Amino acid sequence: MTSKVVVVGGGYGGVVAARALDDVADVTLVEPRETFVHHVAQLRAAADPAWIDKLFIPYDGLLARGRVRRDTAVEVRPGAVELASGVRLDADYVVLATGTTGDFPTRIDAPGRDAAARRLRDLHESLDRATGVLLLGAGAIGLEFAGEIAAAWPGKPVTLVDPAAELLGGRFPDELGSALTRQLDDLGVRLLLGAKLDAPPDIPAGAVRPFTVTTGEGEVLTADLWFACYGGTTPSAYLGEELAAARRPDGRLAVTSQLRVAGHERVFAVGDLNDSPELKTGRAAGRQAEVAAANIRALIEGGPLTAYEPFPDGIILTLGPSGGAGYAPEFGFFDAEATARFKGTFLLDHFRGQLGAG
Ligand SMILES: Cc1cc2nc3c(=O)[nH]c(=O)nc-3n(C[C@H](O)[C@H](O)[C@H](O)COP(=O)(O)OP(=O)(O)OC[C@H]3O[C@@H](n4cnc5c(N)ncnc54)[C@H](O)[C@@H]3O)c2cc1C
Repeated sequence: MTSKVVVVGGGYGGVVAARALDDVADVTLVEPRETFVHHVAQLRAAADPAWIDKLFIPYDGLLARGRVRRDTAVEVRPGAVELASGVRLDADYVVLATGTTGDFPTRIDAPGRDAAARRLRDLHESLDRATGVLLLGAGAIGLEFAGEIAAAWPGKPVTLVDPAAELLGGRFPDELGSALTRQLDDLGVRLLLGAKLDAPPDIPAGAVRPFTVTTGEGEVLTADLWFACYGGTTPSAYLGEELAAARRPDGRLAVTSQLRVAGHERVFAVGDLNDSPELKTGRAAGRQAEVAAANIRALIEGGPLTAYEPFPDGIILTLGPSGGAGYAPEFGFFDAEATARFKGTFLLDHFRGQLGAG
């Protein structure tokens, strides 16, 4: 009898786990989106519409034996996954890979390809029309978004505000923070660290309409477009009682070193959803999916299980097509040129290959 595996979520982790098990199990990948969305490149796509179509990679070539089901898991228990359509999938093994959800720029909130592409075109048009942009949160997303806007629309005022005193929580060598600060300055981005707004703008994020806000220090900032570049959440309402017991207060799921959900032998969780102690990245989601798939294979075929080794802190940030900086302990410091060389294509061919899209 072939073991049945259900992978819930077809993002950076889910597609790797599903494909890795396709030859050894009967795999079903459940995903509400029409195509894989390469979110890592979505800020470039908002600034440069030539990128919009490239973000959407079809699932058609992902699995040779298994299938991708366009549906949403509404209740997952060990052994069974219930879908919004009313279908129930039996599962000897489950891989949870439901990642992060949120409004742009955290994710694109439309499950259909055309609607998501339209949303990006509207965003581009809003950015084009705006006379000043305020970004709240100078984490990885806020920094990259500021760089993209400033590079695409030179001279458009962009202000990036964060209550933290240090860039990226001070967890990287000073060289990285200095390079990012200098490049943002060269691009004309105003970076206000250690600054908190008295109240958020009184217009909806993403709408082009003039507003003013005041910082705790009393400075008045004006702009006509703003985005919150923080605050994604990990969806977990679909977890049945047994699995919800492993949910931590922040919504993430506790996993063992083998990436099994705590207390469960045959349910694994990978990517942004789990509590693996490392930066939440697509790179980590993919590596975790490889380990979870290897462990399911070992349980099916017999063999030792593998422990997952979290990545040490590393980050590579683009600031527009020709700028950016990065640091990873295994590679050292990346200057703007090395960043553009490494990340300029957003590894599009790699991800297309991973999805069997040539
Ligand atoms: C702008 C931006 C830039 C980034 N840059 C980088 C970068 O340069 N390098 C890097 O490594 N990482 C980067 N990241 C982070 C990276 O995108 C995430 O860490 C990664 O997406 C996590 O992968 P995942 O598989 O856990 O979840 P996701 O990729 O979020 O995928 C989860 C999937 O699950 C689906 N899903 C949710 N709920 C259900 C349900 N109930 N049933 C079925 N399916 C469901 C969703 O539709 C989604 O497709 C970036 C993120 C953003 C937003």
